[in-house]
Amino acid sequence: MPKDAFVIEKNQFSSWLKKLQESFQLIGPVEKEGHFVFSLIEEVNDLVMDYDTTMLGPRKFIFLPEEKICTIYQKDQGFTIKKVQDVPGQLLIGVHSCDLHAILVLDKVFLLKSFQDHNYRLRRENTLIMALNCTKVCPTCFCSSMGTGPFVELDKGFDFLLTDCGESYLIESFSEKAKDLLLPLNLPQADDSLFKKKEQLFQELKGRFIKNLDTTNLVQTLLENQDHPVWQRTAEERCLGCTNCTMVCPTCFCFNVKDKISFDLKECDRVRYWDSCQELHFAEVHGANYRSSRKARLRQFVTHKLATWVEQFGCFGCIGCGRCMYWCPTHIDLTEMAKEVQKSNFKRMREDGYA
Ligand code: SF4
Ligand code: SF4
Repeated sequence: MPKDAFVIEKNQFSSWLKKLQESFQLIGPVEKEGHFVFSLIEEVNDLVMDYDTTMLGPRKFIFLPEEKICTIYQKDQGFTIKKVQDVPGQLLIGVHSCDLHAILVLDKVFLLKSFQDHNYRLRRENTLIMALNCTKVCPTCFCSSMGTGPFVELDKGFDFLLTDCGESYLIESFSEKAKDLLLPLNLPQADDSLFKKKEQLFQELKGRFIKNLDTTNLVQTLLENQDHPVWQRTAEERCLGCTNCTMVCPTCFCFNVKDKISFDLKECDRVRYWDSCQELHFAEVHGANYRSSRKARLRQFVTHKLATWVEQFGCFGCIGCGRCMYWCPTHIDLTEMAKEVQKSNFKRMREDGYA
């Protein structure tokens, strides 16, 4: 039983958040037009803590859809560069296990030892994360297959962990900052029975998944089947190239950069915005395009998330949230494509003389 685990009544939890609002921007799940979204919280009572999934993950508050990287000033014969320095302290509330894993995936991308992205580091350092164990499973969720949920089994990379226990939360702290914020509350320690309840909730939820994906040899199988007919068929018959899948995916990190230059050419804001490998222009290099077909672009999305990401970052790029298939206008499902490849492994069949 962890030492820094307490019980907090839900009423007291709300009052505590109102107090924290004096020091942090609160970001959490709210309902909007029939869906849940992560949003800036003005009224703590707007929070919906028993949500199933959100349209976008909390990525958009750490890696913004559009943000200034720096301002470049022309001065005498040279230039000076002013980077973004001030970002508000924020608390992300109610982050599910899959989305927590997605943030840790982005950490691997943006906080490499060899190069650290200035804006991302600044926001990440000024963000506290309050994770929340799931209470529901959506038909499109498959986090249990990807080893990323439905309960948080990590012990670093975040600050608090909540488990809904009815009238109260079990709240655990995983950082010094979290301990300091909990200390003045003088909360009662959580006892063994609460941890037994947590384990019971976890086991019950694990048994409710409808969607799954067998990841055994998945990397190799996908990489050996770059010319499998599923890519061509799905892309040509169903993919509209709308980029929804990449916009909602909590691990997508591609961006483009544009310069906004003043009329007198003395000042330039360098701005970046989310880009997508599903757009035709994305792979244009010097007049040529190395992914000019929809087949190549769709295959890139699926094989990057489920295969080449592993070589690049040491983990899958898919955390099993199911957003891409839910928000795809034609409900293209990357697990179904992967399963079709697994079922009819063309390379193996050719080698065995069946294809
Ligand atoms: S690829 Fe799809 S299921 Fe996987 S993390 Fe991205 S949006 Fe979620
Ligand atoms: S959301 Fe669906 S239709 Fe749109 S680009 Fe992605 S796979 Fe294609």
